[in-house]
This record gives sequence, C-alpha cells and structure tokens, in this order.
Amino acid sequence: MRTTSQILVVGGGSAGWIMAAYLNAALNGSGRREADISLVESARIGRVGVGEATVPTIRHVLQTVGVDERTFLKAADATFKQAIRFDGWLKGGAERYHHPFDRRASGPVDRSALDWLESDRARDFSEIVSPQPVLAEMGLAPKALGSPDFSSPLPYAYHMDAEAFADHLADVATTAGVTRYIDDVVDIEQREDGDITAVNTKGGLRLEADLFVDCTGFAAILIGKTLGVELEDYSSWLMCDRAVTLRVPYDAHWPGRIRPFTTATARSAGWSWDIALQSRRGVGYVYSSQFISDDDAEAELRAFEGPHTGSLEARRLKFYVGQRKQHWANNVIACGLSSGFIEPLESTGLYLIEYAAVTLAEHFPRRADAMPIMAKRFNAILNQRYEEILDFVNLHYCLTQRSDTAFWREAQNPARVTDRLNAKLDFWRAKLPSGSDFDDHLRLFSHQSYEHILFGMGFESV
Ligand code: FAD
Repeated sequence: MRTTSQILVVGGGSAGWIMAAYLNAALNGSGRREADISLVESARIGRVGVGEATVPTIRHVLQTVGVDERTFLKAADATFKQAIRFDGWLKGGAERYHHPFDRRASGPVDRSALDWLESDRARDFSEIVSPQPVLAEMGLAPKALGSPDFSSPLPYAYHMDAEAFADHLADVATTAGVTRYIDDVVDIEQREDGDITAVNTKGGLRLEADLFVDCTGFAAILIGKTLGVELEDYSSWLMCDRAVTLRVPYDAHWPGRIRPFTTATARSAGWSWDIALQSRRGVGYVYSSQFISDDDAEAELRAFEGPHTGSLEARRLKFYVGQRKQHWANNVIACGLSSGFIEPLESTGLYLIEYAAVTLAEHFPRRADAMPIMAKRFNAILNQRYEEILDFVNLHYCLTQRSDTAFWREAQNPARVTDRLNAKLDFWRAKLPSGSDFDDHLRLFSHQSYEHILFGMGFESV
C-alpha cells in the first residue's frame, strides 16, 4: 500500500456517510493523513430512507466525526430515545413492557431479578431496575438543561429522519475533507486475484482505490454482484420480510406528546413501529409475506393508525434477513444493508454500520500484506455481532403466548428458535441470567437487556 491509502466508499446512504466520516476522523487529523477518502453515490438510485431509531453508541460516532449535537438535532428532525416499549407481544392485549437503555443493579451482588420474581410483581420488572420507563412515559428528556453535548445522567439515543441524517453527515464529512462524487457506478475493474482496482461511472470517471467499502444497500454491487459473496439466510428464525411505512404529520394527527421511546406493537403477522420526530411520526408495519398480503398489511396499519392516514401515501419495502458469509472479502468491506440485515425490532441497523466503521478503523491495514489477517479478524467480529443480534431479536418472538393468528402460533414453533438461544433459555430456567453467561465482551446486549425481554414476556426462572 502507498503511505497514504486511497479508500473509496461506494454508496451515500447512512452506511456510506457514517463510514466515510468515521474513517476520516479516525485515520486523519492531528497532523497525520493515513487515507484519502472519497465517496461516490448515485443521484438516481434512492436511499432506503428508513432507519429512524438508534441505540446509544451512535453518540460516540457523532462526537468522533465532529457533529455538534444541537445542529444535528435540528438538521435531522431528531428527538431523544430512552427505551423501546413492546405492546401486546405476550398475549395480544393491553399488556406492555419496556426495554430501557438504563439499568441499575441492586448492590454488589445484583438480586433485582430474584427479588422481583419472588414479589407480587405489582410493577413491571423494568420499572424496579430503571427510572427510564417512568420518565419516558412522562415525556421527559434524558438530559438536564445544561448537560454537555452527548452526555447526560441517563443513557440515550435518538429518533431521526434517515434522509436528513445522511445529508447532514455528508455536509460534515465533506467539510472535514472527504471527496464526494455524484454519479452511478456502472462498471467494476478487477485484478486476476479478484481484488477490485477501480470503478467506472456513467459520467466517465474512473475511480481507483486500495480499499473499497460497499455501501450500496441491498444492491451490494461490489461484495455481492462482483465478488459473489453469498448471504447466510436467517429466515428460518426471523419470519418478517416486508414493511409498509407511513409518515404522519402532527397536523394530521397529534397524539398529545412526543414520546421519547420507540413503540413496537405486535400485529397479526408481525409488528409495527411508532417513532416520534420533531415534525412528524414515522410508522411502519414489519410483517411476514407468508402470513399476510401487502394490501392487507397496509390496510391493517391504516386501520390501527386511524382515519387521518387515509390521504397519506404508503411506502412498501421488501428485505431479506441474514448476513454476508464474509463482510470483508479481497479488498472490499461491506457495510450497511449490503453486509446484512436483521429486522429493525431493536434498532440495530445503524449500530451495525457504526460497529463496522469503528472495527475497520481499528483493523485498518497499514501494510498491504496485513489485509488477509485484518479481514479474518474483522469477519469473525462482525459475524459474532450478527449472531448476537439474531438471537436477541429471536427471543422477542419465541416466548409469546399469543395463539390468535397463524403467525404467532408459528413463532412458538421450537424450530424457529436458534440452538444458541434455546441452550440459554434452558439454562436460565434453572439460573438467573448473569454476565458470565456470555463469553463475548464486545456484545451490545448484556444479560440485563435479556432480563427485560425475558421478564416482560412472562419467563419463569428458578
Ligand atoms: P441505502 O440507504 O439503500 O443506500 C444505498 C446507497 O447506495 C444510495 O446512496 C444509492 O444511491 C447508492 N448506490 C446504489 N447503487 C449504486 C450505484 N450503482 N452507483 C452509485 N451509488 C449506488 N436501522 C436502524 O438502525 N433503526 C431503524 O429503526 C431501522 N429501521 C429499518 C426499517 C426497515 C423496514 C428497513 C428495511 C431497514 C431499517 N433499518 C433501521 C436499517 C437502516 O435503514 C439501514 O441500515 C441504513 O439506512 C443504511 O442503509 P444503507 O446506507 O446500507 O443503504
């Protein structure tokens, strides 16, 4: 590799701009310039345009790339998020539970779960271990007036407009030195060993690089179409493969409060999200096409939302669930939807992008012969993250007691549960979850997150 490497990010959705901005911040600056970073994006091929809920790690990324929190909140129509509330997942009625970001332990030896299981359970488990469910239901923010940018006594993330977020990051990244090309990639040049040497655009540009980052969304034109890296399919465990979305302006429907939490409501063949931004709500129904038609899913979402949605245009999306068998192959790293997707129940799409950016910066090959070693480790780490999220999302479905629709009956089929999760559930019937149940310290969801879902879904232990 040259002293200053050339990195070309292909695709300018959230993945492309997070990757470009983060690599630029991590590899350049403080008198060093390790990489020239460019991004090429099509003006003709749109972004997926969803991805409105995040997890707290996003704050590290925004801070690192030099975003000012107030400017970001305005630019991305963003609001604070402190939890996810799950409505109707256990029995399909009015029951609900929260998965808050904050979780307190009751002492050096955390007996919260044991105490709660032995109590009259008059209050939800999440409410006795975190103030966030109550604060969030009161509509209060996680920050105090005067809290510095990106910090507060309570962990928080954001809800935001996905398009506006990518545009804002593009401004930040280009101001910081990332070069932007707006053009369609139409042809890709490879060496005999498979490495990509350059991409050619419709407008006649030939863009060379040492490393290419494929952020072309579901199209995956480098990792999938050019290198032929296949997907490992997760549809045996996660049945949802479609979504229908609506943008509901507050002047069409004002629910009385901007909720600082995501609401995930179980529906006949999946679930729907409700995310409050400053100027509108984003709602969407994630469903399984095996159990409901696209028209019926849209009708169910509109019926739930109410008559004010009649004139609003719906958007329909198809997706796969799974991950690439390799996230880094030859000199191509996949990031975002090109690398895989797990349905958005725990808002992990943008997290996986952030994680890939941070991990690539840490494993940046500073010598050409380091590429295979870095790729091997990067693939192992990303694979672990996907498997972790698969199991955690899988957990939300498999404990349901709903039998009112074929979808929910099928969700209880033991074959729909991963072996890793099944083993954990068996273990947790005899012992309460604790940190030592997981070998992998890099994980996003600790045993405490598992406890929120387990006890919210009526799991009995010890
Ligand atoms: P895209 O946004 O599709 O961007 C692809 C880019 O590649 C575009 O700029 C396009 O122009 C460019 N491109 C494609 N082909 C070419 C070409 N030939 N030449 C040049 N450019 C090209 N994540 C969350 O974290 N939270 C959520 O709440 C959430 N909800 C979701 C709901 C649904 C229904 C879905 C499907 C996803 C959701 N996600 C969520 C995931 C999230 O939307 C994505 O991870 C995120 O938007 C990143 O998308 P992307 O940048 O990979 O792809």
